[in-house]
Amino acid sequence: MAAVLAPVRTPQPSLTGRTVVVLHAHPDDEAIFTAAAMHRLAARGARVVLVTATAGELGPVLRPLRAGESLAARRRRELERACETLAVARLVLLGHRDSGMAGWDDNAHPDALAAAPTAAVARRLADLCAREGAEALVHYDPQGIYGHPDHLAVHRAGAAAAGLLGITGYEATVDRRRPRTRRPHLVDQAAGARVGWEPAGIATVVRADRDDLRAKRRAMAAHATQVPRAATRRVGFAAAYGTEWFRRIGPAAVLDELS
Ligand SMILES: [Zn+2]
Repeated sequence: MAAVLAPVRTPQPSLTGRTVVVLHAHPDDEAIFTAAAMHRLAARGARVVLVTATAGELGPVLRPLRAGESLAARRRRELERACETLAVARLVLLGHRDSGMAGWDDNAHPDALAAAPTAAVARRLADLCAREGAEALVHYDPQGIYGHPDHLAVHRAGAAAAGLLGITGYEATVDRRRPRTRRPHLVDQAAGARVGWEPAGIATVVRADRDDLRAKRRAMAAHATQVPRAATRRVGFAAAYGTEWFRRIGPAAVLDELS
């Protein structure tokens, strides 16, 4: 009688010693667009450094703030909780002001990210990536996924910084041809611009496993002032948020080793 062997899961190679810097515009973007990839990277041993460019002080307020509490302070705490969930090794806040939606006067505020000189932001990012020994920088596609002025600024600075160092740039996006699910992705509720990118231009796709999904739900739920409760219900979550998409500028790097 032949022995029956239990299926053996091939262990995935460790990513210990590898570093990725992940740049986002506002607290919550890391959870919505890249949490599965960040969680998987950390679970495999990579060092994930999250850089959040603004405090998100012009976002909605879905939960009441405490007396005297600012939205920026609350969102920082939400971000720190999300970082714990995603095992982020280091959080860096660039301290720019939220620029608000396209056309708002806030776009031109002297501290607004959208008004900051791209070269200066890129230099700061490049220095950070160099000190961290990062092999890749994650930022946004050329239309900022959905056209928000701060997201466009993240693309400009991220692309310039990756270019300065000659490291791979991964541009977070969404596949605009993806099948529509019963629960719309939050990005589909964003005002105005056409969202995402054509699939032919998307090089790297990360599909969340069960642990990644659980972490992503928790990370999104941590941003309770921004993310409606309905968006993080378990049923339907995997279909709406279980895939993350990246354009890639440069050679294949650590995100391409996640599948
Ligand atoms: Zn954002």
